[in-house]
Amino acid sequence: MKDRDKQVSFRVNTLKTTDEQVLNKLHEWNIEVTPTSIPHAYITGEEIRTTTLIEKGEIYLQNLSAMIPALILDPKSQENILDMCAAPGGKTTQMCALASNKAFICAVEKDKFRAERLKHNLSLLGAKNVNVLVADALGLDRNMKFNKVLLDAPCSGSGTGNERIEQAWLERHTRLQRKLLSRAIDVTKVGGIVVYSTCSVLTCENEDVVADVLSTGRVEIARIDNTYNCPTATPTIPGVLSIKRQGPYEGFFVAKLRRIK
Ligand code: SAM
Repeated sequence: MKDRDKQVSFRVNTLKTTDEQVLNKLHEWNIEVTPTSIPHAYITGEEIRTTTLIEKGEIYLQNLSAMIPALILDPKSQENILDMCAAPGGKTTQMCALASNKAFICAVEKDKFRAERLKHNLSLLGAKNVNVLVADALGLDRNMKFNKVLLDAPCSGSGTGNERIEQAWLERHTRLQRKLLSRAIDVTKVGGIVVYSTCSVLTCENEDVVADVLSTGRVEIARIDNTYNCPTATPTIPGVLSIKRQGPYEGFFVAKLRRIK
């Protein structure tokens, strides 16, 4: 295993290639790679950045923890899916791959520059059936109804090692996270699924936000099993996933909610 700082994780983009083809190329180039318990995900070193795999859209550099929310959402062919905070598209493109480009995805991004990056990545990775909406997700029409919604919320990034978090900033963001999650539930069909994720390890951005929506009675927890053996901390709400920042894993939080009314 390489030093933490030199470890890079990536996902094979199955819309363009296969694990076998990528591994063969890496073997040819003498680049060491370690499989993980996450499908199509590998750990390697910095030298991966010098290969043509990224520019050809054959792999996507992504932290292992960041691959979990889309796997939990489990997008399927023909489903209508909303990705509420989508840029640069790591999870949108992963959802396209998981559904073999047969899901209908609406990818919303407020920042127009980041939305351009999202469009670029969708095209590079061969992701199809994605409608990009450059808009504030808080303004989404409540009458829209999706089978599944991913809210990968803007957060402090405390799970990635960011320690410079101002209290006023945090308060503003926890308010925004609550509003976004409430709107995510509005636009989910009854019986549908909302996945809420952050790359934060702070309870105020994670469990506290989820506890608030649970108290409305509109959603219930759909239990997440730690199928991929991520290093976990004990969350204050049973059934959610709290990934520890450890080895190649960044700190991450994932909650799966089912709309019940
Ligand atoms: N899901 C992305 C991925 O996997 O590549 C990462 C998303 S990042 C954590 C959060 C994104 O939400 C940022 O690109 C930010 O510009 C966007 N954002 C923040 N507030 C938003 C809002 N009100 N509506 C839509 N997008 C928003």
